[in-house]
Order: sequence, then structure tokens, then C-alpha cells
Amino acid sequence: MSRFDKAAELLDLEPGLYKVLRQAEKQVIVSIPVMMDNGEVSVYEGYRVQYNTSRGPAKGGIRFDPQVTLEEVKALAAWMTWKCAVVNIPFGGSKGGVICDPLAMSASELERLTRRYTSAIINMLGPDSDVPAPDVNTNERVMAWVMDTYSMHVGHTTTAVVTGKPVELGGSLGRREATGRGCMIVTKQALEHLGMPLKGTNIAIQGFGNVGSVAARLLAREGCKIVAIGDRTTSLYNANGIDVDDAIAHVAKHRSLDGYGKGDTLSGADLLTLDVDVLLPAALENVITTKNAGDIRARVICEGANGPTTAAADSILDEKGIFVIPDILANAGGVTVSYFEWVQDRGGYFWTENLVNERLEAIMRHSFQDLLDLSKQHRVNMRTAAYMLAISRVATVHRLRGVYA
Ligand code: NAD
Repeated sequence: MSRFDKAAELLDLEPGLYKVLRQAEKQVIVSIPVMMDNGEVSVYEGYRVQYNTSRGPAKGGIRFDPQVTLEEVKALAAWMTWKCAVVNIPFGGSKGGVICDPLAMSASELERLTRRYTSAIINMLGPDSDVPAPDVNTNERVMAWVMDTYSMHVGHTTTAVVTGKPVELGGSLGRREATGRGCMIVTKQALEHLGMPLKGTNIAIQGFGNVGSVAARLLAREGCKIVAIGDRTTSLYNANGIDVDDAIAHVAKHRSLDGYGKGDTLSGADLLTLDVDVLLPAALENVITTKNAGDIRARVICEGANGPTTAAADSILDEKGIFVIPDILANAGGVTVSYFEWVQDRGGYFWTENLVNERLEAIMRHSFQDLLDLSKQHRVNMRTAAYMLAISRVATVHRLRGVYA
């Protein structure tokens, strides 16, 4: 919210709208009874928050995690609102969560939990009102259950009620790679803008899951040198460049980088402060803080993860002249192709992967340029420009629609 406040002040946002945009529109808490495999009933707490729906249906993932809180879900829903506005897709923002430990549950318990949670929030959901997607510990399988439960309630198959579905069930080609692909596209643009060559650019990547590994593979294909990768088990440095496809094959087989010895091991903290051209955090939030921001040597940071930099660290990175591609742009490729999935489901006509990638690239490039122009115009960094653009787009729609009495 401190970033929101800063951008709102620069935009001179009127006090009424400021109050409207600082609040979530709707917050729902549900209790979810689930019959466990041993015959006992457990009750879980779940949330769905719609932060803003002025620009279109709310869009946001569902996470299953023991640490989920209503406050966290609310913050993530706000983030989705700004992210959709930055890339100018016609969605608002939402998020959902259930406090549970999916790793300790069987597949059938997870299915019952998902279906009961879906039915508890069914009145909020719908292709025209709120469209979930996968998030922490949820996946295509879970989305298929959400879609089926919703369809059973309304009496007909409604694929457009969720995105991130299996391709056989109305999912989009290119969705799985979309976030990493978006990171690759905006990193290339940042290098172009800074007059840095693409070939041989050194990149360190924290997180080697969906976002990090895809970004690594695509950037390597563009001629960049991925000199460091890391996950929750291991971080590796190889000055000659890591063979990304080989590392991905290792993770596919062993589920982590553990045991992949083709490089020098280093600590996760040291990976962040390597002398590289680009740092791509793609794992966790709050990894670049006031404690380590001063030691970061990368010229560009591409925020693949949500919230990898704390608000307090922003000014340190600014002082060092580091060009930060903010998360609400850098990782917006995923929600952009989710939007394509929703469009394809509603139209009942499916695109080729090339067309998906082409349209994704057009949106990412355009959005990056919008932010760059705004940042020059107002002499602010890319993050503040992103918030300014997002807030002004949402605010414009509120002004046009007025306050319903
Ligand atoms: P993932 O679960 O596929 O991968 C996460 C990776 O981070 C794994 O390699 C894991 O080992 C690593 N990791 C976890 N803890 C770590 C630690 N302490 N140090 C180093 N590495 C660690 O998740 P993902 O889908 O790739 O998402 C990564 C980030 O990107 C998250 O912040 C997520 O919110 C964000 N994001 C993802 C998408 C998407 O489409 N997948 C879209 C937008 C934002």
C-alpha cells in the first residue's frame, strides 16, 4: 500500500477515489467441512476476496497453504487488480485461499476440499464475475475440479469460469510457459533500452520452478548466458554458462536441483549479489531487502516472483541505478495468457501456440513501452510508473461509471 500511496499522490488522486481504491470490494470467509479418508470430518477455513471489478470480472488464483491469511489474500487481490490494469486486459483483481496442508492430504481429500470450497463461494464465481486460476499448491487438476463443480451447479459446462486448465478441457496452449516467456520479453526490452547486448549477457536466476526454468530456457535460447540458478535445495554458479535444458531434465527426474553438480555451489543469499548483468528472482517474496539491496551488483532486476523486493529496498536500488522491471509487469505474462484462455473459451475457438505467443509478445512489449514513457515523463522508476498507470486506468473507469447510489 505504500507504493499505492506514493503513486496516488503523484497522480493527485481525488480523496473519494483514493478511499474507494484502498478498500477491497468484497471479502468472504467460508468454513469448509471435508470428510477425510479415515471417516472423520475436518473443517478448513477459506477466503475469496474481490478487490476491484470496475474494469471487468475479477481475476485471481486460489492458493492452498497452511500460512494463508485473509490479509494476505486481500493484498494479493489488490496486486492482481494493478497487474491486469498494467497490461490493460479487461479484468479486475481477486484472490482465494484455503488454510490447509495439501501435501498432507490424499488426492481424494483434496478433491472434496476443492469442490466444497468452490460450492461455498459459487455465487461469487462465473466467467462474467470472478475467474480463478492456479496459485501456490494448486494446479491444472484443481482447476478442472473447480470448473466441473461450477458446471454442475449451473447445469452446463462452463470452461471460462477458470483459467490454467488442462488443454484438453479448454486450457490455452502456451499458458504454462507464459510467465517465464513474459520475463524473457521484458528483459530483452530492458537490455535494448539500456544499450546492453543480448548475446553473452550474464544472468542469475533464483527459483527454478515454472517461472525461473522457463525464463532461463528462453533467455538462453536468445543467446544470454545463465551463469547461476538456484532452488530451495541448491544454488549453482558456472562462469561458462549452465546448460539449462540439462538442468531442467535433472529437476524433472529428481524434483529439485539437489545433486546437480555441474557448477560451483554457493548460498542462496550469495546468488542474489553475484556480479551479473541481470538478476531474475523467481521464487519468493521479500528476498531483496534493505539488508542486501546495497550489495546487489546486477544492472537489471526482472521480478519474476511476486513481491521479491520490499518497498523499503526500492530506494536503495534506485540510488544504485539498478533498472527494476517491477513484478506487476514482469510476471504479467501468466495472467495475459489466462485472459487469452478466457477469450478462447468464450469464443469456443482455439488459437495456435504461435498466435498465443505472438499476442503475448505484443502486449508485453507495448506495456513495457507504456511504463518507460511514463517513467521518463514523470521522472520516476518503472515501479512507480507501473502503479501510476494501473491506478489511473482503474480510476478512469470509476470516474466514467460514477458512484452507484
Ligand atoms: P514453482 O513452485 O514452480 O517454483 C518455485 C521455485 O522456487 C522452485 O524452484 C523452488 O525450489 C524455489 N524456491 C523456493 N524456496 C526457495 C528459496 N528459499 N530459495 C531459492 N529458491 C527457492 O513456482 P512458480 O510458479 O515458478 O512461481 C514462482 C514465483 O513467481 C512466485 O512468487 C509466484 O507467485 C510468481 N508467479 C508465478 C506465476 C506463474 O504463472 N507460475 C505467475 C505470476 C507470478
